[in-house]
Amino acid sequence: MAELPHMNLVIIGHVDHGKSTFVGRLLFEHGEIPQHIIDEYKKESEEKGKATFEFAWVMDRFKEERERGVTIDLTHRKFQTDKYYFTIIDAPGHRDFVKNMITGTSQADAAVLVVSAREGDGVMAQTREHAFLARTLGVSQLIVAVNKMDATQPAYSEKRYNEVKEQVTKLLTPIGFKDVPIIPMSGYKGDNIMKNSANLSWWKGPTIMEALNNLKVPAKPTDKPLRIPVEDVYSITGIGTVPVGRVETGVIKINDKVIFLPANKSGEVKSIEEHHTAMQSAEPGDNIGFNVRGIAKNDLKRGDVCGPVSAPPTVVKSFTAQIVVLQHPSVIAAGYKPVFHVHTAQIACRFEEIIKTINPKDGTTLKEKPDFIKAGDIAVVKVIPDKPLVIEKVSEFPQLGRFAIRDMGMTVAAGQCIDLEK
Ligand code: GDP
Repeated sequence: MAELPHMNLVIIGHVDHGKSTFVGRLLFEHGEIPQHIIDEYKKESEEKGKATFEFAWVMDRFKEERERGVTIDLTHRKFQTDKYYFTIIDAPGHRDFVKNMITGTSQADAAVLVVSAREGDGVMAQTREHAFLARTLGVSQLIVAVNKMDATQPAYSEKRYNEVKEQVTKLLTPIGFKDVPIIPMSGYKGDNIMKNSANLSWWKGPTIMEALNNLKVPAKPTDKPLRIPVEDVYSITGIGTVPVGRVETGVIKINDKVIFLPANKSGEVKSIEEHHTAMQSAEPGDNIGFNVRGIAKNDLKRGDVCGPVSAPPTVVKSFTAQIVVLQHPSVIAAGYKPVFHVHTAQIACRFEEIIKTINPKDGTTLKEKPDFIKAGDIAVVKVIPDKPLVIEKVSEFPQLGRFAIRDMGMTVAAGQCIDLEK
């Protein structure tokens, strides 16, 4: 049986615009929600006399079930179309959604940006922030779901869709997203998800499903050295220590000699599995759990990176980064020490030097050695991590060279590593 290409999808958008409902709908339409949960819901809704199907309810129950069973792909939800094997890699409803999105987006092949069309909604603060982060963190393919079309005034209003579409286009064009399908839909009612809806008869474009199937197959950097940022480490009876993560580059095979850094633990790969299926090897895009002989659970943690002993991941003393300051209540000067989210690692890093600011229009230098930078600035800075950190030059390993900078409960900046010192 031919394997379908894998596609990792992240669902982004402003809180309450309908992300969980949308995910629930996708899983439901593909038969990925267990029947007993659906039955349970039907029973409860009959008892309470509810008329419509509430996906948020189904999703909550689904999540509960997943959390009770000890599986190694706890946060991953999947569905299959005739073209792709999709994995949804975020956690809707998570308290710190942006933080989650950062670690999620660094692994995503494509994003669906959910924007509510309800009056007063449209493009909002988190819509902007998520779209911007998706772009900075290297997600090149985007689909916009103009959601809650059932709740516009009047319902399914083409005029309201056009207003939201205009807002979205104004947001996406300057940050470099091109040819993005902007699809009117309702996650709640299911309009335009799997098939064109009679409620949206004025819409001649693709459904969400068609847009998902039209995504391009992500190029697989199999020729580069192996890199797997560790997301989690499990101890599984009968197998042993099982780090879990997504293969970003290269290929991992049984019997390969691998090293985890900065942990500095090495060993031989004994088993590999994805979605509980044993494999002989895994490639970029695969979310795997793998056992390495001689490594204990406590030897590893989230943020370590696995690579070949012959071409190990890069542990840096310092690095040079190009960053975009998204928001900051005051100014950023040398000495500033926020938390960097790089692949799966979170590490405090000190701004050693602000080297220069850059003109966003043409990339030329605006000012050498400025005293400080502020929201809206693009700058080149030298950074020193508090603890050993694996980061790679973005030109060599795009997914390991991008990061977000968090402080005061918000994403203050995002950027990429352009040079480094070992
Ligand atoms: P999230 O915070 O983005 O994950 O949003 P949720 O999926 O939790 O949805 C927030 C609220 O909007 C819930 O009350 C949903 O029932 C409602 N909602 C989501 N999608 C739709 C939709 O297509 N139409 C309508 N009318 N309500 C929706």
